[in-house]
Amino acid sequence: MEYEAVIGLEVHVQLKTDSKMFTRAASRFGEPPNSLTNPVVMGLPGTLPVMNKAAIELSIQTGLLFGCRIAEVCKWDRKNYFYPDQPKNYQISQYDQPICIGGEVEIELPGPARNIMGEHRMVQLTRIHLEEDVGKLTHFENESLVDFNRAGIPLLEIVTEPDLHSAEEVSAFLHAIRLHMVYVGLSDCDMEKGQMRCDANVSVRPVGSDTLGTRTEMKNLNSIAGSRDSVAFEIQRQSRLLEKGGQVVQETRRWNAEQGYTVALRSKEEAHDYRYFPDPDLMPVKISPAMLDRLAREIPERPYDRQRRFLEDYGLPFSTASVLCLDRQLADFFEEAVSAHDKPLEIGNLVANDLLRELSSSAGQGGGKMSKLLIKPGQIAELVKLVEDGVISKQIAQDIFPEMFHTGRTPSLIVEEKGLRQSTDAAEIESVCARVIAENPKPVEEFRTGNQKAINALKGGVMKATRGKANPAMVDQILRKLLA
Ligand code: ADP
Ligand code: MG
Repeated sequence: MEYEAVIGLEVHVQLKTDSKMFTRAASRFGEPPNSLTNPVVMGLPGTLPVMNKAAIELSIQTGLLFGCRIAEVCKWDRKNYFYPDQPKNYQISQYDQPICIGGEVEIELPGPARNIMGEHRMVQLTRIHLEEDVGKLTHFENESLVDFNRAGIPLLEIVTEPDLHSAEEVSAFLHAIRLHMVYVGLSDCDMEKGQMRCDANVSVRPVGSDTLGTRTEMKNLNSIAGSRDSVAFEIQRQSRLLEKGGQVVQETRRWNAEQGYTVALRSKEEAHDYRYFPDPDLMPVKISPAMLDRLAREIPERPYDRQRRFLEDYGLPFSTASVLCLDRQLADFFEEAVSAHDKPLEIGNLVANDLLRELSSSAGQGGGKMSKLLIKPGQIAELVKLVEDGVISKQIAQDIFPEMFHTGRTPSLIVEEKGLRQSTDAAEIESVCARVIAENPKPVEEFRTGNQKAINALKGGVMKATRGKANPAMVDQILRKLLA
């Protein structure tokens, strides 16, 4: 029998706010353990939660970004459980009235090659609710440590319908969530820092069946590759089990990333009963149409829509369009340069290749940020124009790019100062050509006996001797004349 996989994800994403969800304690990563706490975070008697408006706004924007219906009223519930990551013994969450309902996320599957776009489709969401993150436990052989810096950070839970059908789609979905949230500035989604975590629910069923099979759940997957691989493993394990006449048991399983398998952790019978009830310390939240309007106006063109526009309007190759649209500031930079000089292909190349290369190689020195760029879009436009007008060669343009990047000086200035203008002085080029011909009898002989390609060695010699400044078309013409 053929089996089909059915997967639903619950993705936790920390929102990018200055302070925590229900108190002013700072929300930051990488501080000394337990330094970002206060009596509210520690759940001391007599403290009261106060809502963080920015977190609510970012949640609404997430919902708008993914086409959710935004609740007119949402409310807070206590999710009760006893565990050392949560000193209050309950987590403030949203049970039956979440902030966002429904929605869909566009995913992009990998194409058959880097330069060919893969399939796109929409994945249906069930809901998105807002809650507070809990502390982080680290277990050692004989003891466990807890860090409450993470406790209380505003945390979104994005829940999908059982609408994903392969490990590749799981990977594409997580990439899409991260792309959209980072693009709009809602979260940094750094999985290594725990800012995005994934629970995967996996079941299989005979192809053609429309009832759901029994599912297992893998919790707290902390990388996209791990999520993909654990789902792939689970699909295969369940299919083999059913093929052998066995039955899938509903349970939570742990992903062993080092060894690449899942193992049973606890069964559904041991599942928590959280005894949810409305939090008496917090009022329900009313979201006004005016607030919705204001937040909707701040939602930019979505990255995959922008990618489609870049392909259609600018005729960019897919690899360039997709790289540019991974980063809102990078795509803005590109469009600003194109508006200064309408040569999207050349500008796209410089931005997607040269600019990104310089950015990543200076990342270690703290210079690798789009927001701190010295180089201006207009200067890239100017560089392309200098090549187009024959003032400098393509090679010189490439050569001076790093200096433009590191100093923010205009290409014209650098070209003048270093005397890099392309030479179109026929007499000067001819004398260099004659010298190169005299010094290289072998390619000369080869060319004269019919090997057309041998002229390239001579051209190379001339470009080297002129430090790339000779006009290549003139070099070709003059060499041929002298060799005739
Ligand atoms: P829980 O309360 O245990 O987290 P939910 O009903 O809220 O369970 O579902 C959690 C996630 O599991 C959702 O993403 C949902 O789409 C998915 N899911 C539910 N049933 C199945 C199933 N049989 N197979 C795959 N995914 C499922
Ligand atoms: Mg669950």
